[in-house]
Amino acid sequence: MLIGVLAIQGDFEAHTRMLERLGAKTRIVRTPADLDGLDGLVVPGGESTTMTLGIEREGLAEPLRDLVRAGTPVLGTCAGLIVLDRDHLGVLDIAANRNAFGRQVHSFETDLDVRGLDAPIRAVFIRAPWVKEHGGEVEVLAEVDGHPVAVRQGNVTAVAFHPELTDDTRVHELLLEQVRSRKVGERV
Ligand code: GLN
Repeated sequence: MLIGVLAIQGDFEAHTRMLERLGAKTRIVRTPADLDGLDGLVVPGGESTTMTLGIEREGLAEPLRDLVRAGTPVLGTCAGLIVLDRDHLGVLDIAANRNAFGRQVHSFETDLDVRGLDAPIRAVFIRAPWVKEHGGEVEVLAEVDGHPVAVRQGNVTAVAFHPELTDDTRVHELLLEQVRSRKVGERV
């Protein structure tokens, strides 16, 4: 199983470490050629404006959309959620509200119930977005104060927090499960 981690900018190394702990092979993605043969992709946190500019500069926007259209499981975290939304790559039918928790609350942690996980997860939010609008195809997996902070639409999952910053690997496992069930589907 080969999982790419977009490494234009942001905290991609923590994702790589977590995925390898779970037994996946990883590849740093910086150019369209790096997307070839990937079974899954992580779009990490960081700074969404910088990341979007880098995606444009490297000619990655359309290849990334193709990857999603082909059904490849993708996980976006924090700035990654913003990069995937309607106003950026447009592969998730959501509108993200950047730095939504306000200036005073740059970062916080909370125990969050996430649909699909058996018990709450310690979620680290850093200058995090929330989802201010979403289409009918989007499933809300978690909310904070009534605002969606984890969503899924088909093969694309996005969370507003940083699952790579704790020891809890369950969000990354969800991505790997999607990859596994897709591979099984391909064989039959
Ligand atoms: N505030 C950042 C942005 O708007 C996201 C922060 C993060 O990824 N931790 O791009």
